[in-house]
Amino acid sequence: MDKEIPDPEPSACPDWIKTDPFLERAFNFADRLHQGQYRASGEAYIIHPVAVASLLRDLGGSNALITAGLLHDVIEDTDTTAEELEAEFGVEVARLVRGVTKLSKFNFGSKTERQAENFRRMFMAMAQDFRVIVVKLADRLHNMRTLHHLAPEKQQAIARETMEIFAPLANRLGIGQFKWELEDLSFKYLEPEQYRRMQSLVADTRANREEQIEGVVRELKERLDRLGLSHSSVSGRPKHLYGIYRKMLRQSKGYDEIYDVLAVRIIVQTIDECYRALAVAHDAFKPIPGRFKDYIALPKSNRYQSLHTTILLSTGQPIEVQIRTEAMHNIAEYGVAAHWKYKESSNGIVADDRFVWLRQLVEWQKEYRDDQEYLESVKEDLFDSEVYVFSPKGDVYQLPRGATPVDFAYRVHTELGNHCCGAIVNQRMVPLHTELQNGDIVTILRQNNAHPSLDWINFVATNSAKHRIRQWYKRSNREENIARGTSLLEKELGKNGLETLLQSPQMLKIAERCNYHTVEDLLAALGYGEISVMSVVHKLREQPPNQVLKLPAGPASKLKTPIVGLDGLLHHIASCCKPLPGEPIIGVVTQGSNRGISVHHQECHNLKNIPAERLIPIRWSEQQEKATTYPVDIEITAIDRVGVMKDILARVADNKVNVRQASVDTAPGKAAIIKLRIDIIDREQYERTCAQIQKMSDIIAVKRVIQEG
Ligand code: MN
Repeated sequence: MDKEIPDPEPSACPDWIKTDPFLERAFNFADRLHQGQYRASGEAYIIHPVAVASLLRDLGGSNALITAGLLHDVIEDTDTTAEELEAEFGVEVARLVRGVTKLSKFNFGSKTERQAENFRRMFMAMAQDFRVIVVKLADRLHNMRTLHHLAPEKQQAIARETMEIFAPLANRLGIGQFKWELEDLSFKYLEPEQYRRMQSLVADTRANREEQIEGVVRELKERLDRLGLSHSSVSGRPKHLYGIYRKMLRQSKGYDEIYDVLAVRIIVQTIDECYRALAVAHDAFKPIPGRFKDYIALPKSNRYQSLHTTILLSTGQPIEVQIRTEAMHNIAEYGVAAHWKYKESSNGIVADDRFVWLRQLVEWQKEYRDDQEYLESVKEDLFDSEVYVFSPKGDVYQLPRGATPVDFAYRVHTELGNHCCGAIVNQRMVPLHTELQNGDIVTILRQNNAHPSLDWINFVATNSAKHRIRQWYKRSNREENIARGTSLLEKELGKNGLETLLQSPQMLKIAERCNYHTVEDLLAALGYGEISVMSVVHKLREQPPNQVLKLPAGPASKLKTPIVGLDGLLHHIASCCKPLPGEPIIGVVTQGSNRGISVHHQECHNLKNIPAERLIPIRWSEQQEKATTYPVDIEITAIDRVGVMKDILARVADNKVNVRQASVDTAPGKAAIIKLRIDIIDREQYERTCAQIQKMSDIIAVKRVIQEG
């Protein structure tokens, strides 16, 4: 006879769960499965999933997410399968719980390769649906709140992992609420003495501090009311302990010297009101210079927005003031959760475009073979303090502190880094090792024949840039490339006399005309395909005939010139007007020299002194090699304002046009003169680019620069 198993005693279901039949069913399901399991505290296990679900509810999560919170441990801790969950609660809940279960197996304190693998899998899971991580964070927060029930060694391990992995993740997802608490709880276990010291420091000054804050709040409220900013809420708030502690360490300062132990927050309705409230604060109290930060114009990568300033009380006590709108406040507290209501769907949430960093972490895992390098890059990206800089198009890039234009270039694109030859930061040419600052607008100048320099490794701040520079050197095995380049040229020109040609001064000139310093550089470039054999042969043909006598005869005669009417004649593009394919051109027979025909724009003012007999009719051939570009100088007159250069460069970039040189001339009260040398394929591309610049409201004139000559 079967033994009678008594029905388990059901636990009491919290009221807020009972209001929803779906949640109540999930509660009963989890409660039944966890029967007989207990927390380290001795309580019934079900209190844990209920607490996790409740945290998710506070974040504004959907029913599916709260349900996943209730069920998050059933696959791991009971016999239930994902299939059963799916049958009972649908595919979305099942998928979330399966994701959380996978994550719970990760141990981030393990050996390098395991740890790297864990990160890879975690970011994959996040990229598919970052709510999995939010459930995991809620799970971790409740476990941290109840950590005192565990053995000391376990406390240490869990607290360390929380401090190193989960608090930064909460920060990256913008969930400020979770981040502060996870940090303070970890701090308490990792450095109990420091924690107690901070506690007593804060407690000692509490009465005094609260009084001061109240005074500031009262004063600000009155002034805001007078201006009709009456919907603003103004409140003081304590800073969390770990934040203060870290500041003291980082700035090697005493508690009294920390600026923002005291903080006041003003919440208004609109962005405009934020700036008006800022003016009010600066008017009422003395602002500390250099302490103003505009995170509204320059949001952090986790989308945090606010104005921060620090004001000084008459007592000499500094107070940080944060000003933001209601919507910004929501994002500061709840991060991704603040807007997931609009984006949640049964397909799960794919991380939206604003979480570029996440996409990047996922990208990296495809690229890195070496676990150690991957781990370093991930940790650096996740945890280092950051600077935010802009591309000319206005895209925000987040880089670790100390990053340089080279780091930026590699972050934008590997190719951009590999061909980076200069940088403009805020409209000024700067050395490549310049440390970037928050808000910098960075334009990378690229040249197809530029390549990474090994000493970049000494100043770049990101491991990813280092990795790519090294990669480049590995790939660009120079000897091999030179050999390959030589044999390519040999095929085109024949073996005869090639050796002599390569050592001739003419060949060096050709190399220089192609922007290489040495013939070997040119051959190497041929070898790895940076320049085509055709364009080198072109250049050889253009050399004065008496100097190219040694040019070996070869199949090069199949070369077509892009200009009709010049066949067989030595020619060059006039450097004064630099005509583009598609533009009306005319040939000028140069005098007393061996440079052949000079190709001018028909409207070039240098033509007016040239007698008709020296002009010959020519035109561009219909078929142009789209790969060839021609340098064009343009001059733009613009109303001087911050960012005008950035906007112009964005237009240029939109048309896929390279900028070779850029300079800006400004003088107070005068229009700015911006000179650009751009690489243009043909007339159409040129005209389209100029028309778009001309259309900008701040632009007075755009003209082609034609040199006298
Ligand atoms: Mn759990």
